[in-house]
Amino acid sequence: MPQVADLLLRSRELAEVSDTPELDTQLLLCRVLDCSSAWLKTWPDAPIDETQRIFFEALLNRRIIGEPIAYVLGEQGFWSLDLEVSDATLIPRPETELLIETALRVTLPSRSRVLDLGTGSGAIALALASERAKWLITATDNQPAALVIAEQNRHRYGLKNVDFLCGDWYAPVVGKRYQLILSNPPYIAPHDVHLNCGDVRYEPRSALVASGHGLDDLRHIITYAPAFLERMGWLMTEHGYNQAADVRALYRDAGFQKIVTKSDVNGLERITLGCNSF
Ligand code: GLN
Repeated sequence: MPQVADLLLRSRELAEVSDTPELDTQLLLCRVLDCSSAWLKTWPDAPIDETQRIFFEALLNRRIIGEPIAYVLGEQGFWSLDLEVSDATLIPRPETELLIETALRVTLPSRSRVLDLGTGSGAIALALASERAKWLITATDNQPAALVIAEQNRHRYGLKNVDFLCGDWYAPVVGKRYQLILSNPPYIAPHDVHLNCGDVRYEPRSALVASGHGLDDLRHIITYAPAFLERMGWLMTEHGYNQAADVRALYRDAGFQKIVTKSDVNGLERITLGCNSF
């Protein structure tokens, strides 16, 4: 009968596809055995029965052909939450946590109304809800399959102050106004070579790609934001590392003030924010 240590050696088969083959293999085996990685290290001789071995092979084979570890596990950590993800949603990225940090730092009323556009798995809305129980958060997405996942994530953490609505960008909230609007919209240009690499190949194009060199969805969100913001409300958007100057120009054209770009942990310009002065 194979043992834990034997299956951990199978990480060699992930060397080409993954930057973290040992970690991926541990995560898969933890899923199969329903244990922690500390347990794996403590019990390298623990026997693996046939059902567990077959389950492990099935997960490992999905990873070997390149499926992202988050989709194989059906889960991705974001902020303090473990979020369910599927191929209907983008896999939440660590750099998007910069939006959360920034949103928690601006001065806002304690009962602020907040809007997250293109919520996907619900990552941004739910991370904010977990930090600010009094905020009233609305999140929109035009993909019903993504909202099913977002709603399950809301339920998983019992967060009552988030509503998910289906529709394009602002369409479900016409006539409403917010103190804070955030979005991590699609911003990759349609023929960007990076769409053919790694995890991104498996993610929904609708969550990644925007026309107009990746800027058309950002332009829509920024241009219409003043009609949905309270006076002195804030807009914050994630964008590509080389889009900051264009995005700041869009904020200026829409009449925003106090426009600032922030860099992510890799030193790349990643989010821009501005205050609505009207
Ligand atoms: N940051 C993601 C990437 O570069 C893209 C996410 C997005 O388009 N919003 O893969």
